Amino acid sequence: MIQIKDLHKSYKMGSNSLHVLKGINFNVEEGELVAIMGSSGSGKSTLLNILGMLDELDEGEYTLDGVPIVNLNETKAAQYRNKFLGFIFQSFNLINYKSALENVSLPLYYQKKKRKERLEKAMQYLEKVGLKEWATHLPSELSGGQKQRVAIARALAAEPKVLMADEPTGALDSKTSYEVMDLIQGINDEGKTILVVTHEKDIAHMCKRIVHLKDGIIVEDKVIDQVRASSYV
Ligand code: ADP
Ligand code: MG
Repeated sequence: MIQIKDLHKSYKMGSNSLHVLKGINFNVEEGELVAIMGSSGSGKSTLLNILGMLDELDEGEYTLDGVPIVNLNETKAAQYRNKFLGFIFQSFNLINYKSALENVSLPLYYQKKKRKERLEKAMQYLEKVGLKEWATHLPSELSGGQKQRVAIARALAAEPKVLMADEPTGALDSKTSYEVMDLIQGINDEGKTILVVTHEKDIAHMCKRIVHLKDGIIVEDKVIDQVRASSYV
């Protein structure tokens, strides 16, 4: 599903340059649930942003679902993002003045689906994350865990090939974090490929494989025995 070869990325700041990713090699197969773990500043978000076509690599090769991701203009990158990827962020990134249902249906609008289909699908995914009764509520009326569920429903609504989550539990308490991981595990059980960036060991162990990033290189990449979040919630 994902192939990365000799990936390098630097940030230029004036005459200085910060070498953040220093030769990353990593593949992800369909159906995997991979944690990208490492301490703050290790390059996790930089890597995920490149995988998510939100940023460009300097050197190396990236292939997503058989498509070489190279020299994309913003329009093309946006098209691929809509077609292939769903995003989940630490800060939820919901639109404050839109209801839960409208937030979830937004990606379907960008996919040019008709209104009726948008609302039906959005409701179906809200139900999947257990928030059908909250469809008309604004984000400000939801708890942190509920907001992240809405964001997960929104990411799923576009039926992406890969879900990419950057510290999805970073703003949540432990119990709520495990509830969100329980949901993510359930989605992966159905076959969805998921990448989870985290600096938390317990969250990483709820994935099926841990890729450990340190100072811009992969220092360890191992398949693990998955801890089920449901044993905590
Ligand atoms: P992580 O997500 O693991 O905390 P990041 O990928 O966000 O790490 O950051 C890696 C390094 O790159 C850090 O030293 C950070 O300060 C730097 N960095 C991240 N984004 C930028 C940017 N847009 N411009 C300059 N430096 C950046
Ligand atoms: Mg980060």
